[in-house]
Amino acid sequence: MKIADKNTKAVDLVREALEKAKKYEEYHCFISMNESHALERAREIDEKIANGEKVGRLAGVPYALKDNYLSREGVTTAAARMLDNFPSPITATAVAKLEAEGAIMIGRTNLDAYAHGSSTENSYFGPTLNSHDTSRVAGGSSGGSAVAVALGIVPFALGSDTGGSIRQPASYNGVIGIKPTYGTVSRYGVVAMASSTDVMGCFANTIEDADLVMRIMAGKDPKDSTTLDDFWTRDLEDAKPKKKKIGIVKDFLGNGVDEEVKKTFLDYAKQAEKAGFEVEEIEMPIAKYGLAIYYIIQPAEVASNLSRYDGIRYGHRAAEITDLDSIYNKTRDEGFMPENKRRIMIGNFVLSSGFFDAYYLKAQKARTLLIKAYDEAFEKYDALLCAVAPAPAFKLGEKVNDPLQMYMEDVMSVPPSMAGLPAIAVPAGSSKSGLPIGVQLVGPRKSDQVLLNIAKSIEESK
Ligand code: GLN
Repeated sequence: MKIADKNTKAVDLVREALEKAKKYEEYHCFISMNESHALERAREIDEKIANGEKVGRLAGVPYALKDNYLSREGVTTAAARMLDNFPSPITATAVAKLEAEGAIMIGRTNLDAYAHGSSTENSYFGPTLNSHDTSRVAGGSSGGSAVAVALGIVPFALGSDTGGSIRQPASYNGVIGIKPTYGTVSRYGVVAMASSTDVMGCFANTIEDADLVMRIMAGKDPKDSTTLDDFWTRDLEDAKPKKKKIGIVKDFLGNGVDEEVKKTFLDYAKQAEKAGFEVEEIEMPIAKYGLAIYYIIQPAEVASNLSRYDGIRYGHRAAEITDLDSIYNKTRDEGFMPENKRRIMIGNFVLSSGFFDAYYLKAQKARTLLIKAYDEAFEKYDALLCAVAPAPAFKLGEKVNDPLQMYMEDVMSVPPSMAGLPAIAVPAGSSKSGLPIGVQLVGPRKSDQVLLNIAKSIEESK
């Protein structure tokens, strides 16, 4: 990516990004633009450079921010009516770190409301269109960010990934998507979805750019007690895999997986062999239960996290209310999208005293088995390879009224999330009709940079 210096003006970098955003308006990547702030910050950076002052590692680099990150510049909507006029009182740690290095947010990107979804169609503001075919979905929930990077509007964009929200749109738009180890980047100042699996990551067009952005955002934050000590500190070439062995999860190659996805995936595996890796099929029967585990635990956490939106504390409040119950009920009815309500209902159901043991508790036990299965696999392999989603981007409107079909999208992306593992999505090819297809590499906790190193060596062996 281009960084501002004596010969490259930050103002030009930002202007160019803003112009591109305008040119590609029909894709609906952005919910709001940050034009005047962005240009002001760019001028400040140019002035510093002119005065010979030190500037950061991302000086003048324009980026796009998923609209569930809080930043004092503008409003954070989470693509929900509930927050459609919510001026952020704080700035997320991840955003503050990027800004301290000179990165400049040009706009806030579209998502499924509260990050619930796999297509960006659950946004209160309407869907984002796929970068390669405007009749298809962008993927989700971080669809706006993925498309903004795929169209070259910005060199990187932030996303959040609870069960695939960075990896799946990355795969659908042919860009790199990083879902780091749970706890790598602070969650402070990001609208919570499911707190035990929410992670903050990024989209980029090159592995080096993604590595740099993650390196800057990673690290311990006293404001988020689940953050890990900073481990994202190596040069990529020093993060070599030790075993040089990759496992292919056989359970994700069966029925229901699109033939072109299978072929692209197997070609990538062959390429990994060319790059010097031993590639073996492994069985992980528990992996296919990942989806069931996720769609119990995640809504339980969603129901808890969304209980704060009550029309009293902050956010939307329904008009002409006469009593307390109606404030809660009408506000929540108006403020949430149908998918948000569905998850609140499922979550409260699985947590209710009569069903807790049968659903929530059982899902937590199964989650432990899943974590163990991964740990065992990583005794033998540096990484596991699988597709990101069962098929390339689907048509707008095709699944939005069929929640189960939509949830099936996540079958391959949720297992690493439930285990807190790093997973990176990289472009691997495309369908005959030109739709991008990605694959994901999943590794043990804190092996994020090793995964990038592996992806790089496979890319270079082509
Ligand atoms: N598609 C998944 C869901 O709807 C994942 C969403 C996410 O990672 N935020 O839950």
